[in-house]
Amino acid sequence: AKANGRNCVMVFDPEDPQTGDESENIAAILRIALEQRLMSLVYQPICNVQTGALDGAEALMRMKMPDGTPVTPNTFIPVAERTGAIVELGRWAIRTVCEELLATNRVQVASVNVSPTELKMPGFAAYVAATLAEHGLIGTRLAFEITEGVELEVDTEVVRCISELKRLGVQIWLDDFGTGFAGLSWLRMIEFDTVKIDRSFLHDCAEERGRVMLRDIISLLRHRGLRILVEGVETEEHEDLMRAYRIDQIQGYHVGRPAPAARFAMVDRFRSAA
Ligand code: C2E
Ligand code: CA
Ligand code: CA
Ligand code: CA
Repeated sequence: AKANGRNCVMVFDPEDPQTGDESENIAAILRIALEQRLMSLVYQPICNVQTGALDGAEALMRMKMPDGTPVTPNTFIPVAERTGAIVELGRWAIRTVCEELLATNRVQVASVNVSPTELKMPGFAAYVAATLAEHGLIGTRLAFEITEGVELEVDTEVVRCISELKRLGVQIWLDDFGTGFAGLSWLRMIEFDTVKIDRSFLHDCAEERGRVMLRDIISLLRHRGLRILVEGVETEEHEDLMRAYRIDQIQGYHVGRPAPAARFAMVDRFRSAA
């Protein structure tokens, strides 16, 4: 509780899911989530906007409470990061992606979101190498997405881990580009394979100022030889605009919604590719 002025004490904010009991409850359930089979992965297609080909998929974590109620990642991921549960969950996600998506050749490349906490854990790259080898996969089929949103000093541990991953051929993608202040310094420190432009830019494209901004960002990234993916493509108009801007890849509800591995090959426009 935080004292606020003389007689007003902020005990909890009903708008903030991270406060109080709910967060504690989630923290407790996260400890048993894997053995209770409360976690799963869904996959969202990534499409080549010029050819229409299915290039890959992003793995997104799903959690449910023991009574079956879903919990959004925006609620449980921060709790998992705070308690350290993210380390085990992240390893589970990497293994599961290799098993149910890559080894079955449902898709060529799959990306997994990764927190800085995970990259700082000794042995992360070794775990990735072992898991790939176990499933007979080459490194280039796996990508890690690092969000620029996190308040992270690009420290030596993280950089060392990333270069180990790159030696394995694993791709490193920069997620949510343009949402924080860190993006440009990340680009200076790390050789990314792909930059994912945050969906807020596409939504600002309804206005000319937004389109100018997006074009500037695209030319900066192009200049650096980076592959560009735009997130949050929700309409045909969005897709047409991205084709006109010669974006490499798109992702969003218009391309396909996240789906479990078993249904993945059948998502939306890729049904014929099954
Ligand atoms: P993100 O990595 O930026 O993932 C994209 C989010 O946008 C996903 O939400 C996805 O379902 C949603 N999305 C996809 N297409 C569209 C669209 O066209 N329009 C709109 N409005 N939204 C779209 P989700 O699954 O709720 O994930 C939220 C965040 O949780 C992710 O953001 C990511 O930062 C985090 N997260 C999810 N899975 C993992 C994980 O396995 N590990 C870690 N560390 N973080 C994860
Ligand atoms: Ca992501
Ligand atoms: Ca994100
Ligand atoms: Ca993103």
